[in-house]
Amino acid sequence: MFDSQELYQEIVMDHNRRPRNFGSMTDSTATSEGFNPLCGDQITLFLKVSEDIVEDISFEGVGCAISKSSASMMTEGVKGKSVEEALTVFEAFREMITAKSDGSKDSEILGDLEILKGVAQYPTRIKCATLSWHTLQAALQGTERDISTE
Ligand code: ZN
Repeated sequence: MFDSQELYQEIVMDHNRRPRNFGSMTDSTATSEGFNPLCGDQITLFLKVSEDIVEDISFEGVGCAISKSSASMMTEGVKGKSVEEALTVFEAFREMITAKSDGSKDSEILGDLEILKGVAQYPTRIKCATLSWHTLQAALQGTERDISTE
């Protein structure tokens, strides 16, 4: 069950300790920076898109456990997907994290990301969880501006 608080803690802590796809990328096709002033979370996202597929993705940054683990899980969730699919995952994630849905109808799309639905109970942490996604969206859409959750 995804409702298990223990499982949630375990997965978040694991991604925080050993973030996946962490580091810069020399051959990225797009980069984007995000900042959440409420918490101080910062992220730089590196994206390599080829023929509309997210071939590679990595990130660097400092932040709280939620922001880091969410970014780590985000990279795993969209790697290998098409740009359109990645944006679909983002939509499903945003609906779940803002409690517009409980994630169950999008289980297949969300995969492991569904574990983060517990964050919806903590409004102050929602921006920590969505920072990497907003940054991803900006990178995918090729906007050059810096992203702030404010
Ligand atoms: Zn944070």
